[in-house]
Amino acid sequence: SNSIAFENVTKVYDDGTEAVTDVSFSVSSGETATLVGPSGCGKTTTMKMVNALVEPTTGTVSVDETPVSEYDPIELRRKVGYVIQDIGLFKHMTIEENVGIVPDIVGWSDDRIENRVTELLELVRLDDDVRTKYPQELSGGQQQRVGVARALAAEPEVMLMDEPFGALDPITREQLQNEFLDIQAGLDVTIVFVTHDIDEALKMGDKVAVLQDGELIQYDPPAELLRNP
Ligand code: ADP
Ligand code: ADP
Repeated sequence: SNSIAFENVTKVYDDGTEAVTDVSFSVSSGETATLVGPSGCGKTTTMKMVNALVEPTTGTVSVDETPVSEYDPIELRRKVGYVIQDIGLFKHMTIEENVGIVPDIVGWSDDRIENRVTELLELVRLDDDVRTKYPQELSGGQQQRVGVARALAAEPEVMLMDEPFGALDPITREQLQNEFLDIQAGLDVTIVFVTHDIDEALKMGDKVAVLQDGELIQYDPPAELLRNP
């Protein structure tokens, strides 16, 4: 199972900011949980504890029933794909190299990486001739597709998506949301999706986690949330 579990998790940064307060919730294998709330409510901090970019001060975050702190960092990088708003593609690398970076780090052969890149470009509906281009030669929407392809490259069991479509114009954004829902239906991946947009949270999530000042105030399926807002 690729479940994720937060148990009584609190994060206090070094400067004393308490970003997350006693948060507990779990995401079942194959489900998407969206984390929603205003800027500064602790969404990104919560998400980054899943791939050990942030360490909890107290409490435990587990992936596949094992505390994140017990994973080998390379294994965690393979298991947990990561997509962020400003994409973070490496400018000096081609699209093919960007997409293949995690498989390369974890030791896949060149042939296997090349085949995987072909498969992924098709999945995210990019023309195969982008593989030799550099990120700045692509539009914002195309770059975001590359970001999704890169995060999926090493067949992750968990995906973290931090405002993945936030920087796009509304039409491209809706298109990518719909395409991603299609892609996701064919994958066995557990997703944590951060957004400040409640409509996006309701659309993309099997469950919606509402954060306020670092506290989890509601965690329900969209239909339930609409009944008891
Ligand atoms: P969100 O993603 O909902 O905008 P964040 O998790 O980024 O919220 O931030 C939650 C709180 O923690 C905010 O008050 C923010 O300023 C603070 N914060 C985030 N990162 C750090 C950090 N590295 N050091 C200190 N405070 C931080
Ligand atoms: P640094 O250590 O230089 O801060 P990071 O480890 O944060 O670098 O990652 C650099 C970039 O790689 C990030 O912008 C992020 O988008 C991407 N990245 C990080 N982890 C993954 C992952 N598991 N899968 C795909 N891309 C990732």
